This record gives sequence, C-alpha cells and structure tokens, in this order.
Amino acid sequence: MTIIEPHIHMYSRTTDDYQRMFSNGIKACVEPSFWLGLSRKSSESFFDYFDLILDFETIRAKRFGIDHFCAIAMNPKESENAQLANSVIDKLTDFLKHPRCVALGEIGFNNITKNEEVAFERQLHIAHTLEMPVIIHLPHQNKVKGIQRTIDIIKNEGIREELVLIDHNTEESMVYARKTNSWTGMTVYPISKLTPVRVMDLLKIYGYEKMLVSGSADWGISDPLSMIKVKSTLEAHSEPNEKISDILFNNPNQFYSQSKNWKPDLALVPLNPNQFQR
Ligand SMILES: [Zn+2]
Repeated sequence: MTIIEPHIHMYSRTTDDYQRMFSNGIKACVEPSFWLGLSRKSSESFFDYFDLILDFETIRAKRFGIDHFCAIAMNPKESENAQLANSVIDKLTDFLKHPRCVALGEIGFNNITKNEEVAFERQLHIAHTLEMPVIIHLPHQNKVKGIQRTIDIIKNEGIREELVLIDHNTEESMVYARKTNSWTGMTVYPISKLTPVRVMDLLKIYGYEKMLVSGSADWGISDPLSMIKVKSTLEAHSEPNEKISDILFNNPNQFYSQSKNWKPDLALVPLNPNQFQR
C-alpha cells in the first residue's frame, strides 16, 4: 500500500529513517517548517532554513525514493518575538511560491498570547489571499481554549475551511474540530499525544472523512513509522480496507491536491549511493 505522511520534520531525522519509511510504503511526505529547538535571532536564519528544506531536503529524500514537499511559515513559538515574526512574515510569499511548497504552516497558538495571535492572523490572511492549504497547530496545553480561539480566527478571516487543517487534535478538541468544514489532524507519538488505538477509537466515533493522521516526527521522542502502526492497528481490528486507504493515502492526497504544486511522484526508487551528487 502506498502511504503519504502528511506531517513530518525530516530535517531532524536520519537517512535510516528514510530507508525504513520507503521500505514500509511511505512514498511521499510533507515537511512543515517549525521551531528547531533554539529560538532564532535573525530573520535570515529562517530564510536559510526555508531554503534548506525546500531545496536540499527534497534532494536528500529523493535519494531514498521519497517525494518530499514543504509547508512554510513563521511557527507559533517564535512568533512571540513580534519584530522577528513580522520581518519573516513580510518575506513569506517568496517562499510560498516555491515549486516544492504545497501549504502554509504550521501556524497557530503555542501559549495563546497576543503576539502569537497577530502572527497567526497575518499568515492565515496570506493563505486566504493565495488560496493555498494551511496547517494550523493546536497548543499542547489548553487544547479547548486553543481550538475555540483558532476557530474564531478562521471564521473571522473567512478563508474557505476546506483549505484548513486543524492539526494535533485529541479527545478534548475533536468535538469542536468536527463542527467545522476544516480538515481534522491527529498525531501519533510514542509517549505523548495519541496512540494508534486512541486514533482508531476517534475514527470510529467521528468517521474517516476529512481526517488526517501523521507521526509529526521531529528531534524529540517520535516515530517516522507512526502511520504504519496505525495501519496495523486498523487492520488488526478489521476496519474496512477502503477506510484504511483513506487515512494512509486518499485523505492526505486530497488535502494537498488543493495546491497546484502537489504532484507527488510515487514511482521513485532509491538511488545507489554512488549516484548521490554533492
Ligand atoms: Zn510539526
């Protein structure tokens, strides 16, 4: 089965991960820009990072048979520095027009502050203007307040909700997410966020339509094969095959197909290492 991983930070993963992803059927992925673990001191550091994931990470992934795309944005955490956030957002459109960019993201709330809200609203407006998909990150704490404020901002902006993915939902936020026309994201982590069984239980309650599941693997304890574990769990509990394909392939494909840049090549094969070019 061909799998699309809709949210993963390959910048912080190894080549072993690419090899394991490919051999388990993950043929395309989307890497949203994020906080690197150290808050950056200048806008230029963001621009170099955006170039790196848009240009180099795509080449690196291709060596292992995976077609790699990006989502670009000023992340919620570093948006607390308003001056820095504004200087990055001022130049965002240049990166959003890159042929490997398929969405704006991830944006949203971290601590639900005024500065985060300003950066969130400015960027949502850019996505609306460009009619491009947008990935919204819910805060780790205070999910209910976070999703209520998030939905207010989406409604105020008036962006078409089908373009929006509200990501990192849990049992608490799900009821709010499912009242919108936005896509609903769930993240499977080994020790926090959701387990494959919790994801399955939520799918059984809320249905498979407009649901996206990802591993969101990064430099923390996380798993680039989370989607494979979800697949095994759904299969072990005899969920219908067409629903499993919706989660692993059709839904992420449909969400990102709203970008003209989303044309994944699912027939890539890993290169022999002596074909790698520096
Ligand atoms: Zn992420």
